[in-house]
Amino acid sequence: MPTTANTHSLSDYKQISINSFNDYIRTSQPNHLAFSYSHRNKSYNYNVELLKTKCNYGGYRYWFACPKCSRRVGVLYCAGLYVCRHCIGANYQTQLMQPWQRPDIRIQAIRKRLGWRYSMYQPKPKGMHRATHKRLFMEYIEIEDSYISRIEMIDKLVKAKSNS
Ligand SMILES: [Zn+2]
Repeated sequence: MPTTANTHSLSDYKQISINSFNDYIRTSQPNHLAFSYSHRNKSYNYNVELLKTKCNYGGYRYWFACPKCSRRVGVLYCAGLYVCRHCIGANYQTQLMQPWQRPDIRIQAIRKRLGWRYSMYQPKPKGMHRATHKRLFMEYIEIEDSYISRIEMIDKLVKAKSNS
């Protein structure tokens, strides 16, 4: 087994290999796979585009297009979204992490004030004004929305690329 600098850290992630879909891909020839799963109490539903290259001995070999960077890869790793090893390396500390793991300073500050640690929502902390709670909550939603729309934008870019 080849070893790379990433081997140890990558093995910590749940992974999906294109090989496990070979039979399905060969019979159905889809241009994407629908991913649907939950990870850390959050559910994910999105499509991962498939790419194909011609084999020397005939036929095609299929690949995932990484949902984040659209690189052609054979294995995706679960970081919330399933992404390639390059994205795991580059973004492990940032966008792809779950909200409570992300070092986004503002979002962490809000979570702390609202008393949210590992779960998305907790009742209003005792002693906090309703208006303050609402304001913080709305600000949180806004930050989360912009995060989600970034992910959706990437999805669209990947789709546009694979259709061209
Ligand atoms: Zn990637």
